[in-house]
Amino acid sequence: MHVQRIFAATPLAMMATSQKSKEQNQELTKNVTNPIEANSSRASQIARNYFFGSQMVNPAFTGFPCSTSNFRVKELEDMPCTCCGRPMMTNKQVDEFTMKAGNAAGAELNQILDDNMNYFRAEEKAIVHFIQKQLKDMPDATLTTAVKRKGADAAQILKDEQIDVIKRTSEKSKELLGEGNPVQNACERELKTTFAVAADRKKPKSTGNFNRTNFLTGLVDLEHKKGIQHEQMHKILDVAVQLPESEKIISKMITTYGYGSSDEKFAHRLIQKAVVTAEHIHPKSKGGPNATDNYMGECQECNGSRGNMSYEEWMKRYPNMPDNIQVHADAVTEEIIKGKIGGNYDDYPVDLKDAVYKETEGKVVLTVKNPEEIDKAREERGLTKPTADAKEKANASGAYQGSYHGIPENQKAGKKHHHIVRFPEPAQTKEAKEDEKAA
Ligand SMILES: [Zn+2]
Repeated sequence: MHVQRIFAATPLAMMATSQKSKEQNQELTKNVTNPIEANSSRASQIARNYFFGSQMVNPAFTGFPCSTSNFRVKELEDMPCTCCGRPMMTNKQVDEFTMKAGNAAGAELNQILDDNMNYFRAEEKAIVHFIQKQLKDMPDATLTTAVKRKGADAAQILKDEQIDVIKRTSEKSKELLGEGNPVQNACERELKTTFAVAADRKKPKSTGNFNRTNFLTGLVDLEHKKGIQHEQMHKILDVAVQLPESEKIISKMITTYGYGSSDEKFAHRLIQKAVVTAEHIHPKSKGGPNATDNYMGECQECNGSRGNMSYEEWMKRYPNMPDNIQVHADAVTEEIIKGKIGGNYDDYPVDLKDAVYKETEGKVVLTVKNPEEIDKAREERGLTKPTADAKEKANASGAYQGSYHGIPENQKAGKKHHHIVRFPEPAQTKEAKEDEKAA
């Protein structure tokens, strides 16, 4: 029935008129979405071709979803992940690393791993550290032989990395807050009770049960209990969230890649979680659109492990996320100003702010530049405005007509927010505090 309706309602002439076509196209899109997917008849195939073709004809047409591969933030190198804050790689960077590390041995390999240390995610970094230890005794070893020759113990590799990250967290806190600070104390307590690492003992003895989420929650609590500055806690958490927790992932990587694969495939597996992906801010499974204004750049590790967890739940695992969305927004805005992703992304920072605001029910409020401010920044720096491409624009702007519509216009306008709020603290408490300070 729907298919027939499409034919009846889409004469070519209509595609050429831009005035009323947007509304009509929206109406048509509602009708076309399901039947085309559900019905693979020749008629629907023709309808699909016809309809998709219209996107080229009529730039005002914005009725089709944007594929994640069109999300051009994925083309920017070294953007910080909106969740964990670690730098991300483009596919090109991943390929380059794969070729290099997959064809190196000994000291050269060790150097390549060192150079890319910031990109490795939690469990991957645990293995990389193990491999580097082996390279000291095996100057000719490659990625796979370093794992194979002596045999790797996943439980030990996990524990070593957890200890390493807790120690680095402690170091970071000393650097920012001085000797004997509450974070340092918490780290040392954790090392002693869970891992039985005393100051004078290097080797861990016991196999205590370490709980990553509880440990992070404990650190977050210190911010308020001990009056640690938010910005400093953010920097400390950026280190602490690098804690790995899955022995299974490590063990699977060792058996599948260390033993059963090539050096290049292993190299690729070790780095692939750093690749930038399009995260659906409102999860796809809950009706979130495939549209640029519902995307943010997130590393594959974070994107893959969040699933459709709510942000409230997820932020217990990544309590630095609200801060890192802001860091990411700033970095992407800078690239937009420079014209690195074309002329269709000037609205993106505002869209990102709106989507995050809505998804977190107003708890995370970004400070972003609107298109006018982006233009002004270009002017001030003598940069030219990049040209907008009509076809891309159709993909980049609101390419979805589902039930999700961002936040209402009246909530967006004129609201100035200069800070962001971390879960699980209620937004108002924090704002009230800020107001008190300001007064
Ligand atoms: Zn991440």
